[in-house]
Amino acid sequence: MPIKVELIPVLEDNYIPIIIAENGNCLIVDPALAKPVDDFVNQNGLKPIGILNTHHHWDHTDGIEGLKSKYKIEVFGPKYDLYRVPSITNPLVNGDKLDLLNCTFEILEVPGHTLGHIVYYVKSENLAFVGDTLFAMGCGRLFEGSPEQMYKSLNQLVLWPDSTTIYCAHEYTESNGQFALSMEPDNTDLQLRMKQVEQIRSKGRPTIPTQMGVEKRTNPFLRVHSTEIKRNLGLSPETSNEATFTALRHAKDQF
Ligand SMILES: [Zn+2]
Repeated sequence: MPIKVELIPVLEDNYIPIIIAENGNCLIVDPALAKPVDDFVNQNGLKPIGILNTHHHWDHTDGIEGLKSKYKIEVFGPKYDLYRVPSITNPLVNGDKLDLLNCTFEILEVPGHTLGHIVYYVKSENLAFVGDTLFAMGCGRLFEGSPEQMYKSLNQLVLWPDSTTIYCAHEYTESNGQFALSMEPDNTDLQLRMKQVEQIRSKGRPTIPTQMGVEKRTNPFLRVHSTEIKRNLGLSPETSNEATFTALRHAKDQF
């Protein structure tokens, strides 16, 4: 495997993924802060070559400028967000491909959490960096986009193979799982996963990354076809999956 990923936990529940090649070159994903990244890079003898940004929120961008000026590196990010993340040097749109660390990073536009949100997919490595779009057993809040947009965006991500390793930006897994269980208490995969998550969290370890196949079995936002979820939302079994998604996202906001 030519690349590996390490997570730096920062702030209350953010993770900064560092994508590291065998020669020590690395990419920094959504640095909320510069100093913890700088310390990590120095301690491990790494050489940053670029920053990958998924969206404009401060807890994904505040470390960019400090790292950019110190290491003189390129900043990749959504073209849509150029006006609110002026540090971006290489604006990206849907379908763009980046050759970095001997891998190809494919760009998908996934509006919903924000309108400009993008994700980075590395097909050869079965890896994806999804920011605040898909979470373990959850999905991002809809700050700017509509439920319909987020539903369409998530439907693009589920086309990835079940074995895809997914790095999201927050440790929300335990509370997401509690909501998931309230919607689908009879889902045995979900019951089992929550037991595992509680054990991992009791040791203070990250539950990230997750895997697409696991999410398909346990994430209610990818399971809006489930009659159990429709019933627990007070919807008829004939309700469309998109309408179920809208009701589910609303229910989570009130949870
Ligand atoms: Zn965000």
